[in-house]
Amino acid sequence: MTINRELFDQVMVPNYSPSAVIPVKGEGSRVWDQEGREYIDFAGGIAVNCLGHCHPALVSALKEQGEKIWHLSNVMTNEPALRLAKKLTDATFADKVYFANSGAEANEAALKLARRWALDKFNAEKSQIIAFNKGFHGRTFFTVTVGGQAAYSDGFGPKPGDIVHCDYNDLAAFEALISDNTCAVMMEPLQGEGGIVSPEAEFVKGVRALCDKHNALLIFDEVQTGVGRTGELYAYQGLDVTPDILTTAKALGGGFPIGGMITTTEIAQHLKIGTHGSTYGGNPLACAVAEAAFDTVNTPEVLNGVKEKEALFRELLTAINDKYQVFSEIRGKGLLIGGVVTEKYAGKAKEFLTEGVKEGVMSLVAGANVVRFTPSLVVPEADIREGMARFERAVARVVENNA
Ligand SMILES: *Cc1c(COP(=O)(O)O)cnc(C)c1O
Repeated sequence: MTINRELFDQVMVPNYSPSAVIPVKGEGSRVWDQEGREYIDFAGGIAVNCLGHCHPALVSALKEQGEKIWHLSNVMTNEPALRLAKKLTDATFADKVYFANSGAEANEAALKLARRWALDKFNAEKSQIIAFNKGFHGRTFFTVTVGGQAAYSDGFGPKPGDIVHCDYNDLAAFEALISDNTCAVMMEPLQGEGGIVSPEAEFVKGVRALCDKHNALLIFDEVQTGVGRTGELYAYQGLDVTPDILTTAKALGGGFPIGGMITTTEIAQHLKIGTHGSTYGGNPLACAVAEAAFDTVNTPEVLNGVKEKEALFRELLTAINDKYQVFSEIRGKGLLIGGVVTEKYAGKAKEFLTEGVKEGVMSLVAGANVVRFTPSLVVPEADIREGMARFERAVARVVENNA
């Protein structure tokens, strides 16, 4: 059997369009494909591989737990899940944890909890969910409908109801929407997929105050921003605003699928026995790997390192841009960095990614106009410099192709 990109088109549902290369091995911030070509990884499996590939702490947690017990279901609890939950609650505002297997599932749980909370404490009319245009919350039907791109939720029949949207960073528009019938507000504390958009301090504080005024729960979707990505353990810790519910996934498992929803005891009590669940959620193997990732990331060295690496990334990207003028803005926080392409390259962010792969560097896009970098949080300085040298060659090619 020949395993190549053509086989993808034969045997896979065509909802993805993966690049031509097939990576087979990774170590730290480097990846090798089937032909043995080496790449520097600034994509990190879409902000997932927070410790790069095959980090020794994660490999040993996986092996150790793999020889003990893999799976039980929630008919039994397990030691890794309890340890991870204790660490998550010790490090955040939250008292309680619900484990899932992905970001979408963590958000699904958060939204269902918010609806139950409102029904138990208020009435059936209090069901409105407010979210933001260009926000992204996953691909289950509920979460994709809460997400702010109708194109992703259209065409699947009747949508879950009572969900409305307004623009991010538009406090006046938000104030016009919210009322005592609002049950929850779901937002990213820095929009990722939507183009690496930071919240203005006044906006995020205003949202919190209006949620308090109308007894609405504030849900922070930290699936992309969480576990060190912005240089804080969770982004809310750098915003001076505390949510009522927070969701975490992606970097939480460092590459092993896991998600979590965390909240206060007061709110959590509304997910009573039998109201929600998951066969795999909180599985010992996933929690053991996530515990090792969490322990490794949640240290001053790694979190401060993110801020230092951000500075180097920005410096090198700015130098490239001074030479080629392809970006109108370099934005983001920590190691969630976006380059907004200029008018000349409008809609062409993906060309930078494609040329990057040819030069041996992996990056991402966030929409059609933003090139996104989400490298490992422990990417060595030498790899940042070498990866950026390769990216510069990719930029030169894009400029040439569009001359
Ligand atoms: C990736 C992402 C999700 C979805 O996570 P999945 O694990 O793909 O379900 C949800 N919210 C945000 C902010 C994300 O970046």
